[in-house]
Amino acid sequence: MVSSILNADLHCHSVVSDGTLTPEQLAERAKANDVELWALTDHDEVGGQDRALAAAHANGMKYLTGVEISVTFAQKTVHIVGLGFDAHNDQLVTGLYKTRGGRSERAQEMAEGLAKVGIHGSYEGALKFVGNPELISRTHFARFLVETGVCQDTSEVFRRFLTEGNPGFVSHRWASLKDAVQWIVQAQGMAIIAHPARYGFTPNEEFALFTEFKHHGGQGVEVVTGSHTPAEYMTYADMAQEFDFFASRGSDFHSPTESRIDLGVLPWLPGQLTPVWDALAHRIQ
Ligand code: AMP
Ligand code: MN
Ligand code: MN
Ligand code: MN
Repeated sequence: MVSSILNADLHCHSVVSDGTLTPEQLAERAKANDVELWALTDHDEVGGQDRALAAAHANGMKYLTGVEISVTFAQKTVHIVGLGFDAHNDQLVTGLYKTRGGRSERAQEMAEGLAKVGIHGSYEGALKFVGNPELISRTHFARFLVETGVCQDTSEVFRRFLTEGNPGFVSHRWASLKDAVQWIVQAQGMAIIAHPARYGFTPNEEFALFTEFKHHGGQGVEVVTGSHTPAEYMTYADMAQEFDFFASRGSDFHSPTESRIDLGVLPWLPGQLTPVWDALAHRIQ
């Protein structure tokens, strides 16, 4: 079998971060969509990994441990996915704990910004959607603003309220690129640049991100993701080859009602690329 033809979905979120399904519900949904190799990649948190592994096995799927770490690079937020690491590694667990710190305070500032434009009670409102008290995120605010009818859907909330220059946006300093990559690598995992097309970097900034990431020990890039257009699959297939990176594939599924792409329902990786799961074969459980 050509290894790029494997239904691997290596990026999604559960209630442990900003998804709406439990790890067990995600595993069942992935299986129903014929996923063969799965990874749960909650934001800044590995608390769902043991459950996800058990649920993957209960559904006859192979599993790679996963996480998506928030990083500040060139004054923007970049996401680094880690796969195949030891989820109980002390340095990784401590680094993620520190990365989560400050989310509550940020959320309160976001609510203050929203109150100034007449949207009151959003902190308490967002909290109702939170599954993990250490992980209040913009997504939970978005759900509250949709529930209260301020916006039609979460993408409208992000466009009008939660992105730079808008009333609910609070700039935040996340982990450094170097730390995030090293936490993953020293825990025997692979670091991967998540959805690179999402950042709005200039070509120079993007080149700097890929170069520094590689310098710190990063080895992979998401090529086929729910966040990319088909044209972007080709752009980042070329970038993967230019930087000699392994290629990853993942839906970035968050919720049956909010996500455009379902678990495992994605095109195959372009055949000229080497999939991350080839390099991580020894870490697959
Ligand atoms: P945070 O970690 O609190 O900054 O929240 C980031 C999360 O917000 C991402 O992981 C996505 O789930 C969600 N998000 C970011 N931008 C958008 C968007 N334009 N539309 C919908 N969800 C978004
Ligand atoms: Mn998210
Ligand atoms: Mn992301
Ligand atoms: Mn994600």
